[in-house]
Amino acid sequence: MHEMSITLSMIDIVNDEMRKRGVERLERLKIRVGKLTAVEPQSLLFCFDVCTRDTPLEGARLDIEEVPISGTCMDCNEEFHLEGLLSLCPRCEGGRIEKISGNELDIVSMEVV
Ligand SMILES: [Zn+2]
Repeated sequence: MHEMSITLSMIDIVNDEMRKRGVERLERLKIRVGKLTAVEPQSLLFCFDVCTRDTPLEGARLDIEEVPISGTCMDCNEEFHLEGLLSLCPRCEGGRIEKISGNELDIVSMEVV
């Protein structure tokens, strides 16, 4: 399961960070997930819940910010949101699109008690 391994590596990072800062409990974790990653926020929430049970992260809220796929047309320089990978430029209908976002999988912030 895609989301499970993502969740586990995310928790690893958070645990490391908490240890470094001497933090014992986490209140809230905010992450940014690009649509290109094909990660389901619902599954991520579920995995987070399961994986944090009986850990210092238990009960922490996971906020997921979804980042749309956006790209720039290489023909007319129009910048726009893509619905999928095969979108055309809305201005010139060109197909030469350079993707500039949508691959994000970042921890944005951690709030501690
Ligand atoms: Zn264009």
